[in-house]
Amino acid sequence: MSLTRARRGLGRLLGVDHGGDRYAFVDQAGRGPVSASRAADHWARTTCGYCSVGCGMLVGVRDGRAVAVEGDPDHPVNRGRLCPKGLCEHQMIHAEGRLTQPLVCGRPTTWGDALGHVTDGFKELLERHGPESVAVLSTGQLVTEEFYALGKLVRLGMGLRHYDGNTTLCMASAASGYKLSFGTDGPPGCYDDLALADVVVLWGANVADNHPLLAPRVLGNEGQTLVVVDPRVTKTAMLADVHLPVRPRGDIALLNGILVVLLEEGLVDLESRRAHVEGIDELLAHLAGWTVGRAAAESGIDVEALRSVARAIGRAERCVLAWTMGVNHSVQGTETVTLLNSLALLTGNIGRPGAAPFSITGQCNAMGTRESGFTASMPGYRGYDNPAHRAELAALWGIDEARLPTDRGRAYPDIVNAVMSRKIKGLWVIATNPLVSFPNRGTLELALRNLDVLVVQDGFETPTTAIADVVLPAAVWGEKEGTFTNSERRVSRVRAAVAPPGEARSDFDIFLALARRWGCAEELFPGWAGPEDAFAEWRRVSAGRPCDYSGITWERIDAAGGVQWPCAEGAEVPLGGTPRLYTDLVFNRPGGRAAVHPVEPRPLRDAPRPEFPLLLNTGRTVEHWHTRTKTGRIPILERLAPEAWVEVNPADAAALHVKAGDWVRVSSARGEVERIRVRVTAIVRRGEVFIPFHWDERCANRLTDDEFDPISREPNYEQCAVRVERVDAL
Ligand code: SF4
Repeated sequence: MSLTRARRGLGRLLGVDHGGDRYAFVDQAGRGPVSASRAADHWARTTCGYCSVGCGMLVGVRDGRAVAVEGDPDHPVNRGRLCPKGLCEHQMIHAEGRLTQPLVCGRPTTWGDALGHVTDGFKELLERHGPESVAVLSTGQLVTEEFYALGKLVRLGMGLRHYDGNTTLCMASAASGYKLSFGTDGPPGCYDDLALADVVVLWGANVADNHPLLAPRVLGNEGQTLVVVDPRVTKTAMLADVHLPVRPRGDIALLNGILVVLLEEGLVDLESRRAHVEGIDELLAHLAGWTVGRAAAESGIDVEALRSVARAIGRAERCVLAWTMGVNHSVQGTETVTLLNSLALLTGNIGRPGAAPFSITGQCNAMGTRESGFTASMPGYRGYDNPAHRAELAALWGIDEARLPTDRGRAYPDIVNAVMSRKIKGLWVIATNPLVSFPNRGTLELALRNLDVLVVQDGFETPTTAIADVVLPAAVWGEKEGTFTNSERRVSRVRAAVAPPGEARSDFDIFLALARRWGCAEELFPGWAGPEDAFAEWRRVSAGRPCDYSGITWERIDAAGGVQWPCAEGAEVPLGGTPRLYTDLVFNRPGGRAAVHPVEPRPLRDAPRPEFPLLLNTGRTVEHWHTRTKTGRIPILERLAPEAWVEVNPADAAALHVKAGDWVRVSSARGEVERIRVRVTAIVRRGEVFIPFHWDERCANRLTDDEFDPISREPNYEQCAVRVERVDAL
């Protein structure tokens, strides 16, 4: 495919068209720019609040309202471009459905009354039932300064044992896999590597839909070979030189097969790797039980295609192995991540330009909570069970070490289980909508209705705020200050363009107000007036850690357009920070060597059978974001993608006697989607169907299986058995 053809195709596929160097929105009939008056009094420079690509943008403001968005031409990530969601992000701020006043039992009230209900309700539960009885579910949408403050408030101030975020639903397997391979979390590569590599393998990563502004990076290198591994013929697969339509849960077999070919054909210099990598002999012993034929049979990829991709990786001077939810959303997500890391380590594709294993994160600041938030680890990737880390953090805060938790507590799915069993009786949900996003919705609905106290803090009305005892109205993107970290560890500024509506407050202000009410503000946040105070402390606390922010200031971020950590104060690093990790091949494990791990695939728990003969895969579409809390309120995005659908292969459609546009019922062992429209398409293989998960109506998570990765606790969203039946149209 020529570069020009690929670019034009990408524009068409993303629902955008080229306007000079930038994308300009066109309506469905292609009639040209769609905009109301975009004249602005002034422009606020900020970072997109949707996905983790982290595009820089300018928000135009007139008379106190956000009236336009432009891509920031100087931002190193996107150079002025935006995707469809980014281009109308300003419309989200003033959309219908904003929460503007605190609510208790559905009735408007004052902040004092609402916060009183939260503190009195939680304190009573803690006194009567102990520190296990209240938990917090956070998000990847806050600014890092808010995550840092929230972690201190929850762990030290409120003394809660169980605090996790919805990041466990999307990126936990990547974080766990990095820890097992390299010793700590942290994506080793950067976006420039996608453009510099000779071979890019996008594994379970439909970037054209989910991370649109990464697609031009890949397509910008004419000599590059793009390999896409995905069960569906996604928009990204359509742009690839090679598409490997791997069988669901076939990734591990395929990776083992690629390693076998590399070893058989002498494409790995094992002896030189041993200096930096341990576990090689155990991996070789495990691979002795594999043949290319077995890998081909189990992955569904024919032997010649498997060999040819293995050779391309083995012979490449520079190769990037990038992945996202297609890998992470699996009961074996962590293990699959370690295998991708192992492939990069053994082929020497790490620590060099154009050569990296690279996780593409989901939410705009999922990275920020991983770094600072006290969720999977203590701030600065410090281990709960590491005595030196505990002593260091306690000294930095001037507290008794015994106040630090000794383990991470329950992860998200285990918090839900504990709510079901009534061990947890109070829950504080922040900027997430679990009723739509958590697998096996029926179980979650029961769990949330089982609570004595449910507090939900959000910017918009959602299905979850509708059942809350207390609702705290929060500011959204465009109304608050701080920083986000994107997938390539780049810390960028987020700015308030306009004031929040009514009595809504920034999450940061809510945390401080709650801390004052709880009686811990003076100790935890002495003299703090705004997020800049949290940032100053976080710089000090992160110093010397892998995610070192000590050399990052808000002024430096402005000057560089974003700074990649680590960036130690006084260190000789470029203005924009450190583009790549592990350039010295010294890793964060004891002894400094990385580790490779043998992995064996496990069969599907909920495999197709006569009652449920088809396999469901779930995912996203470019027009919407997560549970449509924001994008579902933006008219142009709703017109582009107004309702959910189910993709059915033509052969299955014929057997089911359904045609495109028919209504069907989709059922699994856990629940059903009563009426959903069919798209008959060879994008999905025979025997497999696909539903995007964004919609509350026709919610795919009524079907999905609540099975979780035993290491990361990430859900297995991608594979469960379903039945499709035609229903009469009403
Ligand atoms: Fe925002 Fe992601 Fe789109 Fe960039 S690619 S404009 S960060 S949603």
